[in-house]
Amino acid sequence: MEDTTILDFEFEAHPNPVGAADRTALLADLGFGKVFTDHMVVIRYTADRGWHDARVQPRGPIQLDPACAVLHYAQEIFEGLKAYRLPDGGAALFRAEANARRFAESAERMAMPPIPDALFLESIRALVRADRDWIPDGEGSSLYLRPFMFASETFLGVRPAQEYLYMVIASPAGAYFKGGAPSVTLWTSEHYTRAARGGTGAAKCGGNYAASLIAQAEAIREGCDQVVFLDAVENRYVEELGGMNVFFAFEDGSLQTPPLGGTILPGITRESLIRLARDAGVTVREEPYGIDQWQADAASGRLREAFACGTAAVVTPIGRVRGRGFDFSIGNGGPGMLTERLRQQLTEIQRGVAPDPHGWVERLF
Ligand SMILES: *Cc1c(COP(=O)(O)O)cnc(C)c1O
Repeated sequence: MEDTTILDFEFEAHPNPVGAADRTALLADLGFGKVFTDHMVVIRYTADRGWHDARVQPRGPIQLDPACAVLHYAQEIFEGLKAYRLPDGGAALFRAEANARRFAESAERMAMPPIPDALFLESIRALVRADRDWIPDGEGSSLYLRPFMFASETFLGVRPAQEYLYMVIASPAGAYFKGGAPSVTLWTSEHYTRAARGGTGAAKCGGNYAASLIAQAEAIREGCDQVVFLDAVENRYVEELGGMNVFFAFEDGSLQTPPLGGTILPGITRESLIRLARDAGVTVREEPYGIDQWQADAASGRLREAFACGTAAVVTPIGRVRGRGFDFSIGNGGPGMLTERLRQQLTEIQRGVAPDPHGWVERLF
């Protein structure tokens, strides 16, 4: 199968789509991941036929055999990206090719067949076009797209499956945090790590999230918002949150973020912010940063700001960090100036209201 192959999508319109008035009511009160659009994409893979049977069809439950491989050995990966409403009523994707590439890399790590980038991209475009009326237009809102793929073979033997389902669903999303970005308090996990060298930390797989939930639950129990993971070898270097990368801003105007090394998810927001900061002449270091150093720099005032970033929540200031035996605040506990500047710059490019010097935005209609 050629890498450039794009299948023709069979389109089956929903016989009973949500009516305009109901949709407007749903779009007026958006949280995250609760409301879904009328359609979904399904593409099948079998070892003998490759990718085939691409469809945009009414969204609905799927039937799985109890021996379906993913239910037992968790061969599953996903992506997260957004379609944004443009000022003229059109819509655009942000760096979707980067999501396609990362999806293929995640697939490879999980011994799954990579879906060709072109087919991934076409599936996203097809769903956004089908459900275009579901893209909200409020500031901070967008249509969140969730491509995912799992082993669908009915087989309990332990080996990579020979059948997979690739799907895309879409969920209109409001601002992740209502009323601007408040700062979050982090809980530093002492018992749990997210990823070790040679593991799956750089793959966007459901298993990483399953393994992180107990630490996230501990953070909530401790009265914090999010867990921050340290490295698995020394239990010292800051890695990332359960689903967001992390940045530090210093009094000399420089930025630092933990280096990618196989244990950290290579965030597209992370990479975009590094680019934008460097464009603006900001020094950005991709270097390890210890939790002890973080505490000392916050106390001395050398560290001015810290923030987490990812597609869902965009840029979120970190106001306070707690752990067993320590508790420190960063800056004045609110969003810092560099954090706010980068957040604004990124979101203005995504919404098509600022120039797009790197060609990150693809207009769909
Ligand atoms: C998806 C994800 C991120 C953020 O990646 P983006 O491409 O910026 O959305 C960060 N960490 C983890 C663990 C993730 O799964």
